[in-house]
Amino acid sequence: MDDDLRYSRAETLDEALDFLWRNASETAVLAGGTDLLVELREGNLRCRHILDVSCIPDLKSVHASGTELHLGSCVTFSEIAASPEVQHLVPVLKLASRTIGSLQIRNVATIGGNVATSSPAGDSLPALLVHDARVVLRSLHAQRTLPLDDFLLGPYENARRPQELVTHLVLQGYQATFHDFQKVGRRRELVVARLNLAVLANKDDNGRIADLRVALGSATPRPVRIPEVERFLVGEVPSERLFWEAGGVLSRKMVEMSGRRPSTPYKERAAQGLLVRTLCPLLDHPSSPGFGALAQEVNDPS
Ligand SMILES: Cc1cc2nc3c(=O)[nH]c(=O)nc-3n(C[C@H](O)[C@H](O)[C@H](O)COP(=O)(O)OP(=O)(O)OC[C@H]3O[C@@H](n4cnc5c(N)ncnc54)[C@H](O)[C@@H]3O)c2cc1C
Repeated sequence: MDDDLRYSRAETLDEALDFLWRNASETAVLAGGTDLLVELREGNLRCRHILDVSCIPDLKSVHASGTELHLGSCVTFSEIAASPEVQHLVPVLKLASRTIGSLQIRNVATIGGNVATSSPAGDSLPALLVHDARVVLRSLHAQRTLPLDDFLLGPYENARRPQELVTHLVLQGYQATFHDFQKVGRRRELVVARLNLAVLANKDDNGRIADLRVALGSATPRPVRIPEVERFLVGEVPSERLFWEAGGVLSRKMVEMSGRRPSTPYKERAAQGLLVRTLCPLLDHPSSPGFGALAQEVNDPS
């Protein structure tokens, strides 16, 4: 770490924005520090100032406005997991939050940090995408709002300008009778996801899938919704065969977006199995004996 590095803590949003306006190109924003401190220690980041925004009250609020949820960027994953508003409006984000790191990590790691790091494996991102999250960015003189899908540009790249702070995220509540977040990794805890998947779904009175949202992470340059899978399944009566076929659509789309790599044969099968496993509860009569075992067969063999 650079010995000349200067640490400043902003007490208010205006103070932080003013600081960034004057020092943007030399400043790294610090929230929980769980990504930033690793980058600094490994010498991957060159900057003169660290601006700590973690105590700014404006960035720590969670509130519902009609069917929308406003989440301050410095809300931690432990706070998200415990929030009644999150549980009510966007419960899939609660599931995702509970899988992040360990309790110690969740107590400090923030949603804004996860979004601003823009890792392909960021676990909150698929859950935010199925809720049409928008990212609110502020600089001293302007505010703009981008759909998360436009904010994420590629692996660890996003549309934030140096003088901007992510102030909050706005999520669209979505009444879904079924929601789930699933993650595949080498261990249960403290693991970078090799695949993650968020799903929201409703069935109609005839048992058909009436609407569905699917977002995949870790397997593509940035987490994305997969409309091809959504279109494939909507209007259909759930069946095991249908879900395996949908899994095939998902893995083909994944390969189309990321190209073939040494890990592709594993990821193709894992993505297919992960979708089937996730959608399983939508079946009226799960399961032929081998089905559950096959759908579980998504653990990393390496
Ligand atoms: C042991 C360990 C386990 C982990 N496990 C997981 C996991 O399971 N899943 C997962 O997704 N991640 C995991 N992570 C990564 C990390 O914890 C998350 O990405 C976390 O959400 C980052 O948030 P933070 O508040 O710590 O961000 P910081 O480290 O403070 O910042 C991260 C980046 O975002 C920028 N930034 C932060 N806040 C703002 C803001 N408001 N405006 C603009 N820029 C901002 C910073 O400048 C920096 O570039 C893990 C990390 C560790 C060390």
